[in-house]
Amino acid sequence: MTSILNCKEVLANLSCYMDGDGAPGVRKSIEMHVVRCRKCRVIADTTRQTLELVRNADPFQVPLSVSARLYERIEAVLSGR
Ligand SMILES: [Zn+2]
Repeated sequence: MTSILNCKEVLANLSCYMDGDGAPGVRKSIEMHVVRCRKCRVIADTTRQTLELVRNADPFQVPLSVSARLYERIEAVLSGR
C-alpha cells in the first residue's frame, strides 16, 4: 500500500532514503513522487551526488556545512526561487 507524498514529506524522508533506510512503502512513495516531480528529482540527484562526493572525500567527517547548504538550497527550491 503506497500513498502519494507531497514535496515536503519526500524531502523530510530523503536522507533516510539515501541511506537505504526507511520502510519499503515510504521508499516506494518517494520513488513514485520523484519520477513525477522535477523539483524533487533535481534535489534527489543533487543530494545523491553530494553524498557521493562527501563519501569519497572523507568517510569519517560529518559534513555539517554541506548539509546546511543543501537544506538552504532545498528551502530556496521549495519557495520557488
Ligand atoms: Zn516534489
